[in-house]
Amino acid sequence: MNLEYGFETRAIHAGAAPDPTTGARATPIYQTTAYVFDDVDHAASLFNLHNFGYIYSRLTNPTVAVLEERIAALEGGRAAVAAASGHAAQFLTFFTLMEPGDEFVASRNLYGGSLTQFGLSFKKLGWTCHFVDPSEPENFRKALTARCKAIFIENLANPGGVVVDIERVAAIAHAAGIPLIVDNTLATPYLCRPIEHGADIVVHSTTKFLSGHGNALGGVVVESGKFDWSQGDRFPSLTAPEPAYHGLKFFENFGDFAFTMKARAVALRDFGPALAPLNAFLTITGVETLHVRMERHVENARKVAEFLSGRDEVAWVSYAGLKQSPYYKLAQKYLPKGAGAVFTFGITGGYEAGIRLVENVRLFSHLANIGDTRSLILHPASTTHRQLTDEQRADAGAGADVIRLSIGLETADDLIRDLDQALGS
Ligand SMILES: *Cc1c(COP(=O)(O)O)cnc(C)c1O
Repeated sequence: MNLEYGFETRAIHAGAAPDPTTGARATPIYQTTAYVFDDVDHAASLFNLHNFGYIYSRLTNPTVAVLEERIAALEGGRAAVAAASGHAAQFLTFFTLMEPGDEFVASRNLYGGSLTQFGLSFKKLGWTCHFVDPSEPENFRKALTARCKAIFIENLANPGGVVVDIERVAAIAHAAGIPLIVDNTLATPYLCRPIEHGADIVVHSTTKFLSGHGNALGGVVVESGKFDWSQGDRFPSLTAPEPAYHGLKFFENFGDFAFTMKARAVALRDFGPALAPLNAFLTITGVETLHVRMERHVENARKVAEFLSGRDEVAWVSYAGLKQSPYYKLAQKYLPKGAGAVFTFGITGGYEAGIRLVENVRLFSHLANIGDTRSLILHPASTTHRQLTDEQRADAGAGADVIRLSIGLETADDLIRDLDQALGS
């Protein structure tokens, strides 16, 4: 779809057209595992990647394809591949970049699950992640080694409300000849488009604000199409002959969408975390109202954050949309429409008070998710971040006194009243 269309138009139309057979206007759920070949030559051309088409839904599916094209259009990327979850999307990304023994540098302010995926599970594949404090971009440069194949950040970090200086980190990655990967889950492309600031790959957990209704897991990887994978011989997976496809060289053949092709044709094919067509449909439906929802998410979050800042039971509020935040300036630059709707605050009284609060709210739901129409509350130290050490928890902004909120689309005054009564109880 023409990238000159506005964001809102792309959110509703990109990648989709009326169904050619029935005229169905909404994208149908193509609930099929496989597709009939025209003839043997057609089948051969599909299997050899000489032609694009549908073979089997582990690789491609028409409903999933609409979502892929739509997210690529919203991010200003060249192409995208969807996955069963955000974590699956991250796995596909790293599997496509890394060889055994390779390394990468990541922000230490990440979603708790990403800290364990990178720090523990990836280790078993022979991949080493070096975590650094992202508030000083030079930390990324200092941690780079000759075997580093990428830098990974969350531009708006979960749960700490940390905004990373994407342009400075991108410059450091590019000086080293490696791509910058940005997890844009919390900001969504409505609030920030990392590719415009130098990111090469954007990953999402579409489970959150993109689907937006807390009803469908999913993930997506978007490539900018601008990275030169041939520099420095660092990415044999993209430049060397691929034995599974008769020696095909992905970068030589597919150029600016080689990464997506490789992630799909090898990582998705061989490991299998494909997005279900129903989940793609639910996510497409969510994305169509992304711009309207994010405006209200941000407005409600600002009101709740301001209310909390004035309470005695609250020691601090870490929301980059508040003037007192150390990240306010960066947020003005990278998130001019608002600093998202997920933030943390510190409760005086620590661990016990945190548990009391999550047990006394009535309208907020106590659960481990974000980016729902409903407002959500979590005490990370006793839930999502409980497997981490005290030090890792503190580093990730998830200490004993920390409460995380994901502000939904309810009446802001109702949310404030609920927190008011729970803080006082
Ligand atoms: C939830 C989340 C993930 C993981 O996504 P899943 O869809 O749960 O696998 C990754 N990064 C961020 C920032 C998240 O919020």
